[in-house]
Amino acid sequence: MTNKKNMCPICEMGILTAKVEKEFQTYKHATSELNLHYSECNVCYSQTATSLQLRQNKRAMIKFQKEVDGLLSAADIKYI
Ligand SMILES: [Zn+2]
Repeated sequence: MTNKKNMCPICEMGILTAKVEKEFQTYKHATSELNLHYSECNVCYSQTATSLQLRQNKRAMIKFQKEVDGLLSAADIKYI
């Protein structure tokens, strides 16, 4: 059984290595350093993100946006 998840979808030869980078994101007037998850191929050096990593990135961004919104409009936002 090969772990297809870690195979590079671009060159189909390399193995993807999960990486995390700090990236500044700006939302409204706030800037925060968020973790950016991505994978890098050891053969073609393409940077790609798996659906899981995209979800992690998105979640971090949403969390940050909610924090900013929470600061701006008190705490009367009701979440589901
Ligand atoms: Zn590759």
